[in-house]
Amino acid sequence: MTPTRVLVLNSGSSSLKYQLLDMRDSSRLAVGLVERIGEQTSRLRHTLVATGETREQNGPIADHETALKSVAEELARDGLGLDSPELAAIGHRVVHGGMFFTEPTVIDDSVLTEIERLIPVAPLHNPANLTGIRTAQALRPDLPQVAVFDTAFHTTMPESAARYAIDPKIADRHRIRRYGFHGTSHAYVSRETARLLGKEPDEVNVIVLHLGNGASASAVEHGRCVETSMGLTPLEGLVMGTRSGDLDPAVIFHLARVGGMSMDEIDTLLNKRSGLFGLCGDNDMREIRRRIEEGDEEASLAFDIYIHRIKKYIGAYYAVLGQVDAVAFTAGVGENAAAVRSAAVAGLEGLGLAVDEELNAVRSDGARLISPASARVAVAVVPTDEELEIATQTYALVGKNS
Ligand code: ADP
Repeated sequence: MTPTRVLVLNSGSSSLKYQLLDMRDSSRLAVGLVERIGEQTSRLRHTLVATGETREQNGPIADHETALKSVAEELARDGLGLDSPELAAIGHRVVHGGMFFTEPTVIDDSVLTEIERLIPVAPLHNPANLTGIRTAQALRPDLPQVAVFDTAFHTTMPESAARYAIDPKIADRHRIRRYGFHGTSHAYVSRETARLLGKEPDEVNVIVLHLGNGASASAVEHGRCVETSMGLTPLEGLVMGTRSGDLDPAVIFHLARVGGMSMDEIDTLLNKRSGLFGLCGDNDMREIRRRIEEGDEEASLAFDIYIHRIKKYIGAYYAVLGQVDAVAFTAGVGENAAAVRSAAVAGLEGLGLAVDEELNAVRSDGARLISPASARVAVAVVPTDEELEIATQTYALVGKNS
């Protein structure tokens, strides 16, 4: 029997998300999440997709190892245990692959060492990802484990886009360059957008707007990423839920010298207490829209700043690409907030961009066009599916050989 299942693991600093997929038809068998690992109030939620049955465990889960063992037990209760001969591989989301990892990679000791060497540029994410990998290896040492990197899709960016205008010797010594993130999503969505247009990925140019709590834009030329808005870290670029996105770097000197803030305080301010949350106290677009409906000016200004930044990036990436076939909205805000899509494209008729408000208002889980049939550039809503993309890439790498 050829094993056809892939377990996808996404380990955050205090969470573990997982999905078990059957790659014969890309269907989901089980999905779940362990939250607040290391606290007294940890919670595991596991759903067996076939029946819709959901089980919940509440109570302390000390670390990722315990979390993954509990997940393995839940899967085993459904007859989907990690020891199943039908399991082909485990695919891990790894946030930072630097310049080294341009493709999904079967994990061995040298790969682990390299992911570890990248910790200084991804101090929050790579350690958690490493813990997830090591725990999974301990549970199934014989099984291929694959790392799928958030940065990989962006490694095709030309040097002109990837380099900051600082002394290259200093930049190289400290590995400072623009890496970009959300690559798995940008890869998947740009491909699905081509499919929606009835084209091959190498036949189209797409601007992808991944608007979730974290947010990033990318310019994808004939299937290859040529520019993206996040940089050395996910802080650069669009206004996000709690991150400022672009600002004059001198704001940091000013906050330190004049504001008397420490580097850690500034880091927290810009990453955790800025963006929509910093501007109006809410980072959920549903709540912001509700407040705007009630005439809240603070929420309204936060929305305008958020939209203005998206527009600037659409314009910039239009210029980078020269010719654009589609603009695709994805992730929590991009897929659900019609008002954001409509405002981001408003006034861009000169670029061939427009939204048909009736199509825009339709709620659906599927990929769809929301531009008028006559528009020069398609505007699309394309739900992202990072887990499916990780599973597909993992299976493509190991499925053939197992
Ligand atoms: P991440 O993966 O970055 O945590 P998601 O892509 O899940 O984020 O997006 C989460 C965000 O999506 C929420 O913070 C909220 O702002 C937005 N969102 C989710 N559902 C809706 C909705 N129905 N309408 C508007 N915004 C929504």
